[in-house]
Amino acid sequence: MGKATGFIEYTRSLPILADAKSRVQNWDEFHAHLPVDELKKQGARCMNCGIPFCHTGTILDGATTGCPLNNLIPEWNDSVYRGQWFEAYKRLSLTNNFPEFTGRVCPAPCESSCVLGINEEPVNIKEIEVSIIDKAFAEGWLAPNPPEIRNGKKVAVIGSGPAGLACADELNKQGFTVTVFERDDRIGGLLMYGIPNMKLDKKLVERRVKLLSDEGIEFKTSIKVGADITAEELKKDFDAIVLACGSTVPRDLPIEGRDSKDVHFAMEFLLKNTKSLLDSNFADNDFIDVKGKNVIVIGGGDTGTDCVATSLRHGCKSITQFELLPKPIEKVHTHESWLAKVRTFQVDYGQEEAKAVFGNDPREYCILSKRFVTDEKGNLQGVETVEVEWIDGNLNEIAGTEKVWAAEKVFLAMGFVGAEKAKLFNDLGVEITSRGTIAVNENKQTNVKKVFAAGDCERGQSLVVWAIADGRKAAKGVEEFLNN
Ligand SMILES: Cc1cc2nc3c(=O)[nH]c(=O)nc-3n(C[C@H](O)[C@H](O)[C@H](O)COP(=O)(O)OP(=O)(O)OC[C@H]3O[C@@H](n4cnc5c(N)ncnc54)[C@H](O)[C@@H]3O)c2cc1C
Ligand code: SF4
Repeated sequence: MGKATGFIEYTRSLPILADAKSRVQNWDEFHAHLPVDELKKQGARCMNCGIPFCHTGTILDGATTGCPLNNLIPEWNDSVYRGQWFEAYKRLSLTNNFPEFTGRVCPAPCESSCVLGINEEPVNIKEIEVSIIDKAFAEGWLAPNPPEIRNGKKVAVIGSGPAGLACADELNKQGFTVTVFERDDRIGGLLMYGIPNMKLDKKLVERRVKLLSDEGIEFKTSIKVGADITAEELKKDFDAIVLACGSTVPRDLPIEGRDSKDVHFAMEFLLKNTKSLLDSNFADNDFIDVKGKNVIVIGGGDTGTDCVATSLRHGCKSITQFELLPKPIEKVHTHESWLAKVRTFQVDYGQEEAKAVFGNDPREYCILSKRFVTDEKGNLQGVETVEVEWIDGNLNEIAGTEKVWAAEKVFLAMGFVGAEKAKLFNDLGVEITSRGTIAVNENKQTNVKKVFAAGDCERGQSLVVWAIADGRKAAKGVEEFLNN
């Protein structure tokens, strides 16, 4: 423990973000690092408490508690306090394959489990994490390091999101020959085509993929496994198969007017946007343009926030975000609230930007959408809603609160209901759960011995950090299976 009195002397620093009004003018990342002296102080706030819950990585009462990767947080906090950046990087890379992603996009369940958070602001763990890995890249500490010996066994990984990449990385390090198949034209899954560029710069995804490729992993893009390559071919050509296909079926809102061409799933908007940005800086015009339009995003969560922020960068006329649930309570740091599963009010980057541009938070709570109002040609004109109240977990519509909101575009961001009902899963013979996910045991092995699954496709829609953890676990499962 670096400084015994650090948590008394220093307060938590806020991250340095570009001004919300100016950053919506471009698609660049808006997060800058704290200066080194300030990071040392933030590291010194870590108390090295007797039982550091920050790295437990468990599910408590349905919510994530601590880091799912079991990152050795107190150890790297201490190293940063002492200015030992290389040691900090070495400890971090023992448990996390891609800290440059989690350090940017993780909601940091480690911080809500930090013991300091019982009565004050927790340690700034995520900020320290991203600073360590960015320094490591800047210093050139991440040179390609392929395995010295290949064991002759071949593994196919289907899907190149964080679960597939982490699994491929772990197996490659152990000397397996790994091929990653991806149906999109770029590698990264939702790191590439879900999370927008301003939250996670795609150059960082490409940098990591290049490193993995230089270490010997083969990447094959624009190949849909199950169609371009059959399950039989896979089984014949590879000793093990890891399905890391994501949870891509979006929850729909089948109300009147849903067939309007102006009502889109969020992912259609976000994917096309990033692709057009990367392909041609929007010159190809192949994206959903909301410039000058009234936009409504239905659903909170990360995906909804990303739609808000993307619409603002297009120059929308107005932005509103509907939430069915009531406004959460304000965060307090008390013994009772620590680790408790309560929704607390948060202002994410998209809402902060909307407030800067239009003067108010875009979220409207307890709103139920009843009908999409369209003209005779199917052009969207608005959304008819009613306010609701929640009584003992039940939803009641409040009579007399019906309203029509002007909207020319709506994005549905209400979560995902599971993996696709892919022919591939059928052909491989893997069992699917009643939640629409692939059934696995504790080693991430399916009912078909040489087939494993990792990430959202077996866990259900989750987080990047869980996908990495699942990918690592699947790699261990494959290793045990093939080495036995
Ligand atoms: C818009 C959005 C924003 C998000 N923001 C955050 C965030 O800020 N922080 C966070 O922690 N989490 C966030 N998440 C969740 C997070 O991105 C996912 O939990 C994570 O990416 C899941 O990883 P995965 O590897 O399991 O699947 P994915 O990232 O979904 O990757 C699966 C890949 O498999 C490919 N694939 C599927 N079937 C086939 C096939 N037959 N052949 C070849 N390839 C195939 C898909 O094309 C895809 O590239 C967000 C999710 C969305 C949708
Ligand atoms: S990966 Fe997420 S939970 Fe783990 S230390 Fe980093 S920010 Fe915290």
